[in-house]
Amino acid sequence: MPSIGFRLTTSYALALSATMIAFGAAVYWERTASTAREAELQLDGRLVAEVEFTRTALEQVAKRTGTVASGMRILGREADTSWVLANEVRAYLEGLRDYLWIVDETGYPIFTSSAASGIGGEAVKSVKNVMLRQPLQQAQGTLDLVPGSARFRYYLMPVDSAGPHVRALLLAAQPQPDDRGPQQLLITMIFMAPIILVASAVLGSWLAGRSLQPVDVMIEELRAIQDGRSLHRRLAVPTGDDEISRLGTQLNAMLGRVEQSFMALRRFTADASHELKTPLMVLRAGVERSLTHPKTPSEIVGVLDETLRQINQMGELVTNLLTLARADEGRSALQVSQTDLRALVLDAKETAEILGEQQEVSVTFELPASRLVVPVDAARIRQLLMNLITNAIKYTPAGGRVVIRLSEDVDNVLLEVQDSGIGIAPGDTPNVFERFWRADPARTRTGDRPGSGLGLAIAKWIVGAHGGTIGVQSRPGRGSTFTATLPKVPADSSGAPFGDP
Ligand code: ADP
Repeated sequence: MPSIGFRLTTSYALALSATMIAFGAAVYWERTASTAREAELQLDGRLVAEVEFTRTALEQVAKRTGTVASGMRILGREADTSWVLANEVRAYLEGLRDYLWIVDETGYPIFTSSAASGIGGEAVKSVKNVMLRQPLQQAQGTLDLVPGSARFRYYLMPVDSAGPHVRALLLAAQPQPDDRGPQQLLITMIFMAPIILVASAVLGSWLAGRSLQPVDVMIEELRAIQDGRSLHRRLAVPTGDDEISRLGTQLNAMLGRVEQSFMALRRFTADASHELKTPLMVLRAGVERSLTHPKTPSEIVGVLDETLRQINQMGELVTNLLTLARADEGRSALQVSQTDLRALVLDAKETAEILGEQQEVSVTFELPASRLVVPVDAARIRQLLMNLITNAIKYTPAGGRVVIRLSEDVDNVLLEVQDSGIGIAPGDTPNVFERFWRADPARTRTGDRPGSGLGLAIAKWIVGAHGGTIGVQSRPGRGSTFTATLPKVPADSSGAPFGDP
């Protein structure tokens, strides 16, 4: 594929050639036509002058001699007829190069110039038609006298006072346009065309190179961004608001987003490896200890117990990671169906109460009196609910309470999980929905509140995929309220990726 610069130059040169050819043809055609028009005008002027002169000459001779045409004519027998034009007139007329006819009242030619005597029968007929036209009056026009050659201009003049027989005279000639002007123009154009073409190609190539130079610079700068470490670099955007500076600005914005995603991905990978490494280390330590120091059966059961706990935790972590990875890829399309949310929340009641009992936390439900049917993915909403409920119970000390509320307004369904637990510091609330974020990682990883920091990230994805929002209000030591707002008519965002990891 040739470069843009080359394509621009050739297109420019081709467009210019086409314009030049069209312009040249128009100018040449116009020049030729105007030359022909000029020639006709000149000829018309000459014909008028000559006809006037001839008529005057005929009339003067007739004044002196009574008539210019003498002789006899036998009606119906043209061959035997012989008009004789007065000699002095005839001598003058025979010198004419043009086509001249003088006819009598019947259309019979009293005089035919030597040029005119050579034309064919058809042409003679059309001349006669013109000369016998009624009423007879002076006229100008064109006639086709010699087939295959340019048409003739004629001038017809009635003759009244040149004796009894002379009716009219008609003088015709071909216009002789001076072709030298248009030809000279054509030669000049043919000569100039390649020079202009080459000059414009050179100029076009220079201009294309100049305007594409910033693009070349950008390509070099982009080439220098090889890996994640150089993602912080940005392109030098030319000033102004042309396409290239807009392209540069957009590329820089895209680089910014790529850098952000890359950093988030790096953080995510590091966190995920770290999360998996910790339980693995615990497992390994337990197994090594059991192997090196022989244990009593009850001690071995204790190690196996811990091993199972770590394996379960790892399994949960891997499941959560897979859920988010699928969401990022856009592979987690929602299975939306009309679902009664009241029944769905009631289904979770028993589990929540058991969990509450274990932690000595009271769990109560405030539900609407009737069904609350909305189009949602029931399995995902159940997951969202369980994530919020387990968190609420997990982060509420014994003796506290958790309330789960379901309500609706005009457009939305509201799912609230309120607890009287440890709460979240004001500065931390924006972070709780981030992947792997935990208020106190060291304590919660293996301690009494195990977790991986993915539960709320998944909750946020589920609500977002339903076109809703999730937020938290919290006061440290007083408790937290998580509120998920789900639209009754879902926006078309099912299965949408969840954004940055
Ligand atoms: P985890 O597995 O750690 O619970 P989550 O994503 O569910 O992960 O929660 C992230 C962090 O948000 C938790 O580690 C905790 O610090 C905080 N958090 C979540 N829910 C509550 C709550 N109800 N009360 C107080 N803190 C909470």
